[in-house]
Amino acid sequence: MTESAIETAGLSKSYGDKVVLDGVDLQVAEGTIFSLLGPNGAGKTTMVQILSTLIRADGGQVRVAGHDVAREPDAVRAAIGVTGQFSAVDNLLTGEENLRLMADLHHLPRAEGRRRVAALLEEWDLVDAAGKMAAAYSGGMRRRLDIAMTLVGDPRIIFLDEPTTGLDPRSRRAMWRIVRSLAARGVTIFLTTQYLEEADQLADRIALLDHGRLIAEGTPQELKRLVPGGHIRLTFADPDALRSAMAALGTGSLDEDALTLRIPSDGGVRSMRDLFARLDHLSIEVEAMSVHTPDLDDVFLTLTGRPDKEPQR
Ligand code: ADP
Repeated sequence: MTESAIETAGLSKSYGDKVVLDGVDLQVAEGTIFSLLGPNGAGKTTMVQILSTLIRADGGQVRVAGHDVAREPDAVRAAIGVTGQFSAVDNLLTGEENLRLMADLHHLPRAEGRRRVAALLEEWDLVDAAGKMAAAYSGGMRRRLDIAMTLVGDPRIIFLDEPTTGLDPRSRRAMWRIVRSLAARGVTIFLTTQYLEEADQLADRIALLDHGRLIAEGTPQELKRLVPGGHIRLTFADPDALRSAMAALGTGSLDEDALTLRIPSDGGVRSMRDLFARLDHLSIEVEAMSVHTPDLDDVFLTLTGRPDKEPQR
């Protein structure tokens, strides 16, 4: 078995009376994308701050890259990169200067530092912007610069704290490509997000954090399987067709006003084909249909009894 890139046991943290992390146990395998998912205020940023040695836990064990964060913080820092809310980008420097500064901080020899900076500018599509002050960068450029700065130190583990909060859909998709390309190099990614779809798209494993506790952990498929609720909704032209369909299929819930029939389904092609074959056989016309497969919103609702909809920061 390979060693976990990140491992916590009984991790806890409070601010005054407020318990922010309440005994969190988690393991992140090397080379995987792990997403810590939770609404605003769940404790995600606090978790990242502890794992990346920025603040200390009150209790529990935390190992990152094989080192104890409390006893060997320097060894942890040498192995990780952090981007996101504590971005190191200096607005008054150009993109290139920011990268050079990182190369100096990592004590890279001058020639190697220049090579690495040039390669990163190229790779992260910042060549044209290299000479502009970071203050003038767009949100997407800024995050690319932030990630490029992290990569100067060649980290084995990267923490991405809400990397797409506030980005438009196009920049969000671009960021997803970036995360996948980082993972393809074998870097372990610890990603926090409030977006269910993002965790679903990117993560090998997801943990749901709610009020400082992990309420579920697994692959996206495992989490979705926890939650029933997949169904097909069929709409008919008139009440006769609706009732005939109900009689023919022998299952489902009727909505007479909307002329719809909701049938439990895994949304798979085979079950859909069977369904339509039976309706076709009786010449029952379907006007419209939609397939609902359970998503992570359903998971959150099922596990917490409330939807994951809280105000944006
Ligand atoms: P998230 O990143 O999931 O939105 P945070 O980790 O930022 O959550 O915050 C979790 C809770 O801890 C929030 O209620 C927040 O107000 C509180 N908190 C975070 N940092 C501090 C601090 N330095 N002092 C007091 N309370 C804090």
